Amino acid sequence: MAKPRHQSLIVTGGAGFIGGHLIRRWLERESGAVWNFDKLTYAGNRASLNDIEQRPDYHFVQGDVADADAVRQLIETAQPDAIVHCAAESHVDRSIEQPSEFVATNITGAYVLLEEAFTYWRELSSDRQAEFRFLNVSTDEVFGSAEPGRLFVESDAFAPNSPYAASKASAAHLCRSYWRTYGLPTITTYGSNTYGPFQFPEKLLPTAILAAQAGRSIPLYGDGSHERDWLYIADHCAALEAALAAGAPGCCYNVGSSKPIANRDLLERLCHRLDEHQGVAAGENARRIERVTDRPGHDRRYGVDCDSIRSLGWAPRQTLDAGLRETVNWYEKNHAWLATLAEADYQGRRGLGHGERRSDSSSR
Ligand code: NAD
Repeated sequence: MAKPRHQSLIVTGGAGFIGGHLIRRWLERESGAVWNFDKLTYAGNRASLNDIEQRPDYHFVQGDVADADAVRQLIETAQPDAIVHCAAESHVDRSIEQPSEFVATNITGAYVLLEEAFTYWRELSSDRQAEFRFLNVSTDEVFGSAEPGRLFVESDAFAPNSPYAASKASAAHLCRSYWRTYGLPTITTYGSNTYGPFQFPEKLLPTAILAAQAGRSIPLYGDGSHERDWLYIADHCAALEAALAAGAPGCCYNVGSSKPIANRDLLERLCHRLDEHQGVAAGENARRIERVTDRPGHDRRYGVDCDSIRSLGWAPRQTLDAGLRETVNWYEKNHAWLATLAEADYQGRRGLGHGERRSDSSSR
């Protein structure tokens, strides 16, 4: 990794999947303090960072990124050299059923964080201003659905199809505008579908692993031909580190494996790993795969060209099969972590994303 440049780092959403891994890696490799600012929604779990909780260079602050006073106080205390913005409502199915939280956290929250970061940044010395980075962790879903055989490049037009993707696109636009208008050194990464340990079990792979472990059917949306570009969590974090250390202010970087694979093929590969792990006959787990009603507006295909982030020295290291094996092993060994989830009775069953709208009256 490049030389340590950021002595005080704020990570929002660090009690979630990507932010938590990033914080642990950071403390293993870098000097300087890390501030984890997280609202602890259903997806946030402090227990994911139990192993570092007592470190003097790690600080947890519970708060909402849309709360300007709380964000201002955090920034004043932490005096950050960089902010990595991971906090988000992150599940597409939930955004379909109840978009209001996605607007509040992903759009208003991003605006509040940018505004407070800018207010702080403009008072810094010119040296510290030049070094400061605001890294916005975004998604390839902002581009909508990729044509067969094509990978998205960063300059492609946004065409978000879910309320989640639209809210992340809005945040990315705001980041660009704070660089172009005010000079705040923002960088955005468009990450592809990420998997690995500590992922909340509503996403495809942990849902499938837990279903197989419990002897239930494994849900596959629609005909399973939808393609996704899967990236192991350590590779995603390494890309964020590369963008922070060497990314150019105002630039955006795609992050993915650049090898889209159909969901049904992915689940079959996963089932092979589960067969190996459980010592059962090949094909035993694949028999559990069951088609369920597709998600409305479900993008057919995601895939990203990663030449820009590769030019910073990053490349994914984990193969899909090795990453799946690691993930299966981890969920097998970490039932205690599952019991600590806020929705502790969450069994990886599909309860969302059929297209029903729940009332958004809370936002009115
Ligand atoms: P996650 O759902 O696991 O974690 C999100 C975290 O944000 C949780 O700890 C939650 O408590 C916190 N949070 C939610 N609302 C908040 C608020 N208002 N204020 C403060 N904290 C709040 O999500 P993740 O998978 O770790 O994703 C992190 C980021 O990466 C998100 O911005 C997401 O859009 C993006 N991303 C995720 C993936 C993926 O496959 N997981 C892929 C590409 C990009």
